[in-house]
Amino acid sequence: MKTLNQLEVWLVTGSQHLYGQKTLDQVASHSKEIAAAFDASSDIPVKVVCKPTGTGSAEIHKICREANGAENCIGLITWMHTFSPAKMWIHGLQELRKPILHLHTQYNKEIPWKEIDMDFMNLNQSAHGDREFGHIMARMRMDRKVVVGHWQDPKVVSKVAGWSRVAAAWADSQDMLIIRFGDQMNNVAVTDGDKVEAERVFGYHVDYSPIADLVKVQDNVSDEDVAELVKIYESEYDLADNCKEGGEARNQVVHAARIEIGLRRYLEKKGAKAFTTNFDDLEGVDQLPGLASQRLMADGYGFGAEGDWKTAALCRQMWFMSQGMSDYKGCSFLEDYTLNFDGEKSSILQAHMLEVCPLIADHKPKLEVHPLGIGGKNDPARLVFTSKTGSGVAATVIDMGSRFRMIINTVDCIDSQELPKLPVASALWIPQPNFEVGAAAWILAGGTHHTSFSYDLTVEDLQDFAEMAGIEAVVIDKGTKIPEFKKELQWNDLYYHLAKGL
Ligand code: MN
Repeated sequence: MKTLNQLEVWLVTGSQHLYGQKTLDQVASHSKEIAAAFDASSDIPVKVVCKPTGTGSAEIHKICREANGAENCIGLITWMHTFSPAKMWIHGLQELRKPILHLHTQYNKEIPWKEIDMDFMNLNQSAHGDREFGHIMARMRMDRKVVVGHWQDPKVVSKVAGWSRVAAAWADSQDMLIIRFGDQMNNVAVTDGDKVEAERVFGYHVDYSPIADLVKVQDNVSDEDVAELVKIYESEYDLADNCKEGGEARNQVVHAARIEIGLRRYLEKKGAKAFTTNFDDLEGVDQLPGLASQRLMADGYGFGAEGDWKTAALCRQMWFMSQGMSDYKGCSFLEDYTLNFDGEKSSILQAHMLEVCPLIADHKPKLEVHPLGIGGKNDPARLVFTSKTGSGVAATVIDMGSRFRMIINTVDCIDSQELPKLPVASALWIPQPNFEVGAAAWILAGGTHHTSFSYDLTVEDLQDFAEMAGIEAVVIDKGTKIPEFKKELQWNDLYYHLAKGL
């Protein structure tokens, strides 16, 4: 698997030959300096590479074709330092298949009022050059992100950083394999969808694996390897008394370790980045792989329960874009579990049977074994914790039959109460703008009960991702009002039908 620092964003500066070689040399030197500054920034997790200045149609076409073919290139930052007549960009842009961030900046921060002359103006023309470039992309109906500001401004660097993370996750999605053990949970609609269309739109591929294939790998795991992993559990978590050596549930912990190693080896062998399970399809497995799913999620494997491959993909994508962020708080698969009506503090308990990622834990998780009451297997091991408090984004992708829709909701995780008789990992959140409007909007938009959640990402990150995929995205946040939101859903139906033929 590629890591973020192996990936590259290319800075492609536009110009033309009108101004002479001296000006072009200055353009190239400024571009190098800007690319180097971005590359050196600790905010931007990928390499930023300066490409030769684009001064003609053939040259620009060549750069775009190279970008398509370069495995490590995840997108282009374009900037029109001088005026670059945009007909020169048509052929290149027609072929380009990588995301674009159009940076509207200028080398000088301020106008040198006393010294400015025609030479200076000829060199620093992005004020109109970037408008010419914007026109051709608008005319070609190409999605792109536009960032405006001085290149040394931390806000601009932060926008470039966010977009780079999203573009990296987009690249990661293109060769993603998702393994499904079993099918969807019978009769469930919202977690299902068109896997062929998903591959066309998102790039990822979904394959079925018989649980028997996993069982074979699991059964070949040596007792020594299992014992080694149980030792890791002992060092990372607080074990319930009955899970400790000699305890009556110890055997279930040992089984859970065997399942985890088997699952990890199987996914590695397949080159998979995400997986789904189904509690109804566990023949030959001792227990629902709860602990294994929790720990694999923390290592970046996307997860969806009950065959939910769309959420498995989104969990991986959100993990990938947020990895290594400063003040990282984590991400997880979650499910709307139970409602708590409490006036303005009404909230939704987020949990699952077992599978919540420990990256969002507020404290050292406890490893416990309890009966599940569903699925008819042995009592499963699981990590029990409550989540951190604070705001985050919950998102889902649904199949509307003719297109995919991403639904993004900002939420506030609040302090939960003790759950002495519900030993699962959980979060408690109030959807924005409040429980009543947030939940109503989510339901009107057709959102899943499963979500992918992150404390670290923003609405803008997910909107950028949806735009790279060319799918619809609706946002439920502090500004949402139901009548307006309903109209947006109706207008979107019309837009996708008229503009995209969907
Ligand atoms: Mn579920």
